[in-house]
Amino acid sequence: MLRLPAFDLLEPTSLEEALHLLAEHGGDAMPIAGGTDLLPNMKHELFTPKVLVSLTSIPALRAIEDLGDAWRLGAGCPLGELANHPGLQQSLPALAEALGAVGGPHHRRMGTLGGNLCLDTRCLYYNQTFQWREALGFCLKKDGDVCHVAGGRKCVAAASNDSAPPLLVYDATVEIVGPGGARTLPVREFYHPDGISNTRLEDGELVVALRVAKPSQGTRAAFHKLRRSGAIDFPLLNMAVSLRLDERGTLVALSAAVSALAARPNLVKGLDRFLGQVPDEALVEAIANRCRRGSVPLTNLATDPEWRRAMVPVFIKRLLQRCLDA
Ligand SMILES: Cc1cc2nc3c(=O)[nH]c(=O)nc-3n(C[C@H](O)[C@H](O)[C@H](O)COP(=O)(O)OP(=O)(O)OC[C@H]3O[C@@H](n4cnc5c(N)ncnc54)[C@H](O)[C@@H]3O)c2cc1C
Ligand code: SF4
Repeated sequence: MLRLPAFDLLEPTSLEEALHLLAEHGGDAMPIAGGTDLLPNMKHELFTPKVLVSLTSIPALRAIEDLGDAWRLGAGCPLGELANHPGLQQSLPALAEALGAVGGPHHRRMGTLGGNLCLDTRCLYYNQTFQWREALGFCLKKDGDVCHVAGGRKCVAAASNDSAPPLLVYDATVEIVGPGGARTLPVREFYHPDGISNTRLEDGELVVALRVAKPSQGTRAAFHKLRRSGAIDFPLLNMAVSLRLDERGTLVALSAAVSALAARPNLVKGLDRFLGQVPDEALVEAIANRCRRGSVPLTNLATDPEWRRAMVPVFIKRLLQRCLDA
């Protein structure tokens, strides 16, 4: 049986108090929301904080706000609540679908949007017990100095959060507070390609909310996820597509994001060239191939990387077709 290392649990009731506690305990402290990722990782001794600052008693993090032209989703909202919200299902279907596909019912009840956004990257050589990792000489991301996947000095553990692809195609914005005050960052700038820590959060900062503009009339979006077990599992590959057609059926907006392959969720570049055309089989094929080109196969998850990559165009085509048929 894996045991949790000892720690002190602090339960602030306001954001100000949480920030103060994080600043006071510095590198000894970590924020915890639902704990569905952090606690298993602590059992594996991937993190050994002396202090956990719980975010669950802070009402300001729990609101789902309809701002008229946008949604403001509190970082502390449970995934299941967001996935089952009728307004979000109607307005941001790809996000609702993605959050409804995270883990199993317990994870969606406990796990939060903020925790999902800040989910630690995953790797076959990292998400293991201390003894397993020790037997292999550890790795660059934790306790070691070599990467067993890429061989070099760069960690390529996979971004595995299901919220990232839809938040990218919806061009969402992250609201952040920290010792230096409040700031915002588009989700497309929130991640960087370093598997050791793939977000641009600074020490002591917290995600407060996600702001997502309501898509313009006629926008269609969808999410898809490849996983071993349909009932409960991390993604081996996940992706989202958003598109808009004008009244003549011409493609006037298109974005696609593919993740769970590398450390940074990938917002596919170069899709503007497909705008101005009426989608047919050839165009769908061309878009799918473009999405495949940006996907690098890595042995960071316990599945054939070439197969994962080969599935990118297959699922992108299905997503495009779903959007076009909607
Ligand atoms: C068996 C299993 C299956 C899973 N399947 C999936 C899956 O299919 N898809 C998926 O995406 N995830 C999956 N997860 C991971 C996890 O359940 C979810 O990602 C969940 O959303 C994490 O949220 P949380 O609130 O529990 O995060 P926590 O575990 O509390 O925190 C995760 C990380 O985020 C940080 N954090 C939390 N909130 C904030 C905040 N507001 N500001 C700054 N940092 C913060 C924490 O310090 C920690 O580093 C799975 C987990 C397990 C154990
Ligand atoms: S990608 Fe390399 S450094 Fe990163 S967790 Fe995996 S083995 Fe470790």
